[in-house]
Amino acid sequence: MKGISLIPQAVFSRVVPRDSFVFEYHLVADEDLPHIQSLYSYKSRRAFIDDLDFLEKEFDLLGYEDFIDRTTGRQKKGRPAALITFDDGLSECYQVVRPLLLERGIRAIFFLATDFIDNRALFHRHAESLCIERLKEMAPNRQQEYYTQLNEQFESELSCFTEVQDFLRDIHRRDPARGLDTVGSMLGIDFDEFLADHNPYLSRDQIVKMAEEGFTIGAHSLDHEDLKELDAESIEQQITGSCETVAEITGQKPVPFAFPYGMTELNRELLAEIAKKHDSTVGVMFGTHGILLEPPYLNRINADSPDGALPGHSNIPQKVRRAYVRYPLSRLYRLLS
Ligand SMILES: [Zn+2]
Repeated sequence: MKGISLIPQAVFSRVVPRDSFVFEYHLVADEDLPHIQSLYSYKSRRAFIDDLDFLEKEFDLLGYEDFIDRTTGRQKKGRPAALITFDDGLSECYQVVRPLLLERGIRAIFFLATDFIDNRALFHRHAESLCIERLKEMAPNRQQEYYTQLNEQFESELSCFTEVQDFLRDIHRRDPARGLDTVGSMLGIDFDEFLADHNPYLSRDQIVKMAEEGFTIGAHSLDHEDLKELDAESIEQQITGSCETVAEITGQKPVPFAFPYGMTELNRELLAEIAKKHDSTVGVMFGTHGILLEPPYLNRINADSPDGALPGHSNIPQKVRRAYVRYPLSRLYRLLS
């Protein structure tokens, strides 16, 4: 892959001086995972290895502390720096990603929503994906029966798959306490059983081991709620509570934090206040605005989708280029918001 050397990097770097990039993944897997499938696409082991080959060739692939030292000028510069991160604490991070990174001595950050550790609870979006995937498997007449059941239970007027899909996406917000359990049981899905059978999230023991192996464990809120929907006190609790739990497990502080759903629309003064008040617990905070420079936050380019990747050819160069194209738009958005 000629990739970034094909030119964009040099040209783009002149437009927006950047010598460091953070990449955001969720998982790597060869299997179809019903709790993820309807939410986003992810890379196979092969495609992720291609990414690592590319990143190692083009960048200094650094761990959290070295990356921060580099970007704050405490470490002398080499090639452009890159940092790999994984969100949501999925068990594939241990089984698939970890061995591939260890083999190459690459360090990464794993950001966890701490309520899900040890498979104590299922992230509501993963529950939603399980429902949608189950629904897709059903015969059309059985689907219709389900729509009728939903309409009776929720006084709705759903009549097609797309409407039901939107309804399932919204049910957690409409009825946070019971909504998903109700629609799940109507599809014959027991979320507790799924958690027990599939262990979709990292266990405490796995997290301790990963920290001992040199990976950085970060926090990603308590339960992956959308922070912009919460009051100031709850936002503080989501950030500090999850960082404290991670610090308690790994013994490492301060703990970097990645905003679930990014930090768009979050009050920056409030975030600065929280960071200052809890600076011994809460480390660098990570957003999702690609290459947008928003110090003290570090933005990340999402690298999950395998679109455009071919065997032996990572799609990271396309993702970086796309992030540069989006940059003026996101900058404009920040100025206006
Ligand atoms: Zn997340």
